[in-house]
Amino acid sequence: MLSSQKKHSVVSARRGKPALPALEASSALAMPVDKFHDYCGVFAIYGHSDAARLAHLGLYALQHRGQESAGIAVSDGVNVVCHKGMGYVNEVFNAETLKNLSGHLAIGHTRYSTSGDTDLRNAQPLTVSCQKGQVALAHNGNLVNASAIRRELESKGDIFQTTSDTEVILHFFARSRQTGIPESLADALDRVEGAYSLVALFKDSVYGIRDPRGFRPLCLGRLDDAYVLASETCAFDLIDAAYLRDIEPGEMVILDRRGVTSLRFAPPAQAAQCIFEHVYFSRPDSLVFGRSVQESREMLGRLLAREHPVEADCVVPVPDSGVPAATGFAEESGISLKLGLIRNHYVGRTFIEPTQANRDLGVKLKLNPVRSLLAGKRVVLVDDSLIRGTTSRKIVRIVRDAGAKEVHMRISCPPTISPCFYGIDTPTRQELIAATHSVEEIRQYIEADTLGYLSLEGLRQAVQDQQGRYCLACYTASYPTTIQEPLIALRHRA
Ligand code: SF4
Repeated sequence: MLSSQKKHSVVSARRGKPALPALEASSALAMPVDKFHDYCGVFAIYGHSDAARLAHLGLYALQHRGQESAGIAVSDGVNVVCHKGMGYVNEVFNAETLKNLSGHLAIGHTRYSTSGDTDLRNAQPLTVSCQKGQVALAHNGNLVNASAIRRELESKGDIFQTTSDTEVILHFFARSRQTGIPESLADALDRVEGAYSLVALFKDSVYGIRDPRGFRPLCLGRLDDAYVLASETCAFDLIDAAYLRDIEPGEMVILDRRGVTSLRFAPPAQAAQCIFEHVYFSRPDSLVFGRSVQESREMLGRLLAREHPVEADCVVPVPDSGVPAATGFAEESGISLKLGLIRNHYVGRTFIEPTQANRDLGVKLKLNPVRSLLAGKRVVLVDDSLIRGTTSRKIVRIVRDAGAKEVHMRISCPPTISPCFYGIDTPTRQELIAATHSVEEIRQYIEADTLGYLSLEGLRQAVQDQQGRYCLACYTASYPTTIQEPLIALRHRA
């Protein structure tokens, strides 16, 4: 699941550093794209006669983790059957397709992908038949050594059906000399490095697996006599399942007629849970890594207000994801929260050609100012991230055009200086504005009166990370694993 390369930024000849992007540089008005994207969400259930329907609902709740494709594999104890397709969950499944997915155990997947690898072949669950039987596999995360493994296997004659990193796990599983399923899975996982929260379906069992560093979340729940697994607990809420616990890093759970069996397949490693799950990716109504995402985000906003106080008349969130941090900022600062920007949720993709006259149209389609709240006011805009800077600049302009007297931008995380290799679609390092420009340069570019980012210490404090259990690499460039050259070339072009 490697991201395709993105367009080059213009490099300043004078200083040898990337020039700040022009506002009209993007030809896509398909909406603020100036955010990181998660790659996937996974769901699984064992022991319910309506397994596919519940998996379908679970995928609805995880739709924010991937919108390019969706799939469900189900077993009735004899056969594994899979249905998947491109698009949103409600486009891939209907009453007819769900009726054909009968069985008491199921896994599901929603996938985000970049345009280069948008392909039904890469939609998950991936299904194969091998000497160990039928298996369906769904993956959230990214393997950092998949390219090298693939080259090695291809040189030995293996044939790959997808361009997805996940497929190498199936190859190693099928090739393993071990005979048991858990042993063969452990054998396969011993060969891969990186981020993986996996759900696997066999004809009479479901497996949930989290990599030894625990980059991506995976939690266990219960619905009557059935057990469920999901990337986030919001999937449990929709089906009235109770959250039991997180799958531990390096843990494999087996759900079958014996109930839940827990195994360790790898020795403990330094944990590296993705902190961006709490900053932006996960839904605020979820528990992730055992913590309320909403509480984390409100605390990010509170600490941001302490670190970067400002005299202002109102705090305005950049909707929707900036709302919890803005709430915390407002509560801490005593400045009233105003919903001064309204988001249109029904825009989708548009294909209006950008021109000088409508160069802000992409953002305007999505965000409209409430002039009565903004005119004449000193406004604190709170957002959860600032990636390229282009969208922030447009939003500042919209707020100013609505009559704001001052616009103070506050970002509820530190400057993003380095790309992710663990399952998040990020721009190249060169396209991350904070990788090559100072905070003051960024402030000038986005045309804000002041700009403040939360500190790294504040970020860790907000998620109560006393033991260093989080990956912070997109803010520090200090990666928890070695990264192979091809990946570095892909994401660090300079
Ligand atoms: S690099 Fe950033 S986005 Fe990627 S896993 Fe680490 S914290 Fe998360």
